[in-house]
Amino acid sequence: AKELGGGRVHWFDAAMDDRAADSARLSADLEQALTHGEMFLLYQPIVELPSHRRAGVEVLLRWRHPQRGLIAPDVFIPMAERSGLILDIGLWVLENACRQGALWQHRYGDDAPAKVSINVSALQLAEPGFVADVEDILARTGVDRSRLMLEITETAVLDSGPALAAVRELRQRGLRVALDDFGTGQSSLSLLLDCPVDVLKVDKSFVSGSAVSNAGAAIVEGLIGFTSRLHLEAVAEGVETTEQAEHLHSAGYRLAQGYLFGRPIPAEAVEAAIDETVKK
Ligand code: C2E
Ligand code: CA
Ligand code: CA
Ligand code: CA
Repeated sequence: AKELGGGRVHWFDAAMDDRAADSARLSADLEQALTHGEMFLLYQPIVELPSHRRAGVEVLLRWRHPQRGLIAPDVFIPMAERSGLILDIGLWVLENACRQGALWQHRYGDDAPAKVSINVSALQLAEPGFVADVEDILARTGVDRSRLMLEITETAVLDSGPALAAVRELRQRGLRVALDDFGTGQSSLSLLLDCPVDVLKVDKSFVSGSAVSNAGAAIVEGLIGFTSRLHLEAVAEGVETTEQAEHLHSAGYRLAQGYLFGRPIPAEAVEAAIDETVKK
C-alpha cells in the first residue's frame, strides 16, 4: 500500500505537469484558430414571456480544435485573455455577428431577431481604440446599431477607468449595454451608480434556485423590482424548466433565456426557425 501511495504522489506530480503542458499546447493552438477557420458562432434565443416569442439572440463563440474537437469557451476565453489574443478574437466575433445581424435585418425586416447580443471581454473594453473599432465594424457591415447589445461583466468595469469610459461612450453613441451574470460579482449594486447600463442579465444561479428555495425566489423577485425602479430591462438567464419560467413571469420578468426556450444553434437553424414562424 505504501508503494502505491508513493507511486500515487509521483503520478500526481506528473499529471500536474501534463495538465500544464496540455494547457500550454492548447493556448499555442489558439493562435492559429482564427486564421485556420476553426472558430464559429452559435446563437441562443432570448424570448418574451409568456409567449416565448423570439426577442433577440445571444452570440456564443465556439472553437472546433482539429484534433480535440469542440473546446468550451469557459476554457479558451480565459486563455485568450491571458495571451491578449482575445483582442483579435473579440473583433472577429463583433465583425461576424454584425454581418449576420445586417443580413437578417435585410432578409427578414421585422421578423429578424430584434437584438443581437454580443459578449465583450474586459480587455477589449479597456483597449484604447475599441469604440473606434466598433464604429468601423458598424460602418463596414451596415448593421443598425439599435439592433445590437453589448454584454459586459461587472469585473470588466470594476477596476478600470478606461473600460468605464468606453461603456459611457458606447451608450452615448446609441449602443445598448447589458451587465452580464448580474449578482455574481462583488459590488453589483454600487457599480450601477458609476456605470449605467440598459439591461441586467440575472445570473442563472439565482434563476435555477428560484423555483426550489425561498432565498432564490426572493432574490429573483427583488431584482425585478430593483431593475424597474432604475428603468432597466431584466433578462433572466439559464431558464431550464416551465416552473422557473412561470415563476419569473409572475414575478414580472418580460425577457428570458435558457435551454427551455432553445439551445445555442447555428445561424442556418435560426433562419429555419424564422421561416417557420413567418409561414404560420
Ligand atoms: P455567458 O455570457 O453567461 O453565456 C451564457 C452561457 O450559459 C452559455 O455558455 C450558454 O450556452 C449557457 N446557457 C444558456 N442557457 C442555459 C441553461 O438553460 N442552462 C445552463 N446550464 N446553461 C445555459 P457557453 O456558450 O458555454 O459560454 C460560456 C461563457 O463563455 C459565456 O457565458 C461567456 O462568458 C463566454 N463567451 C462565450 N462566447 C464569447 C465571446 O464571443 N466573447 C467573450 N468575451 N466571451 C464569450
Ligand atoms: Ca453573456
Ligand atoms: Ca451570463
Ligand atoms: Ca458567464
